[in-house]
Amino acid sequence: MSVPKNETIVAIDGPSGAGKGTVARALARELGYRHVDTGAMYRAVAWQATYNGVDLADESAVETVAGSIALSLDGDRIVVNGYDVTEAIRTPETDVAAALVARIAAVRQVLVGRQRAIGEAGRLVMEGRDIGTVVFPAAAVKIYLDATPAERARRRAADRAHTSSLSADLVGVASALEARDASDRTREVSPLKLASDAELIDTTGMPIDDVVKRVLSLVRSKLDDSASKAEG
Ligand code: C5P
Repeated sequence: MSVPKNETIVAIDGPSGAGKGTVARALARELGYRHVDTGAMYRAVAWQATYNGVDLADESAVETVAGSIALSLDGDRIVVNGYDVTEAIRTPETDVAAALVARIAAVRQVLVGRQRAIGEAGRLVMEGRDIGTVVFPAAAVKIYLDATPAERARRRAADRAHTSSLSADLVGVASALEARDASDRTREVSPLKLASDAELIDTTGMPIDDVVKRVLSLVRSKLDDSASKAEG
């Protein structure tokens, strides 16, 4: 797999509930870039594998699903093999299943390949857990958004897309989030971690509009720098 160096790729990483989705979407809109949520790709694989009755512990069967699904991520709708799964992939069950399939090296290899192919066109804001560390280590800008576990749980519990089920109580959300975080941070392949050259922003207590403004000004100045270096 070649790793493209791209002056117009913005990588946004961080744990669940840190504000990545809102920030990445707003950034892409402001910059006129494409926005890709890679978490939705892991969720889509988990959803399709479950739908097919595949045992998520069967790594090669899950890999086959990852390699064969037709995935459309255009706009804010996620379409898998012709089915709109935008809402279906946000359930607590899919939270757990996505974190499980994300631990499988072969699945990551397939999805990282797809993510890099999307990046070939540049002008991209991509969010996830390993975008700045693995998918685009040469991205022009890397942002790592974080917040305290309590704040992230509060945000997640208030997120209607994630709380369509009855299990939206704060304690339940917090413990599910903690389990998923632990899985993402300690897995062997591409664990969630801060890239050495990423800008860490702690969003605890910050209104999301302020986070967007701060990230936007940072990204604009970095993109200007990287464009002038590319020209010179
Ligand atoms: O971001 P989101 O919560 O939708 O991601 C779902 C799961 O997909 C995460 O818990 C993580 O295990 C996995 N993921 C990943 N690498 C990414 C994006 C998501 O491992 N780049």
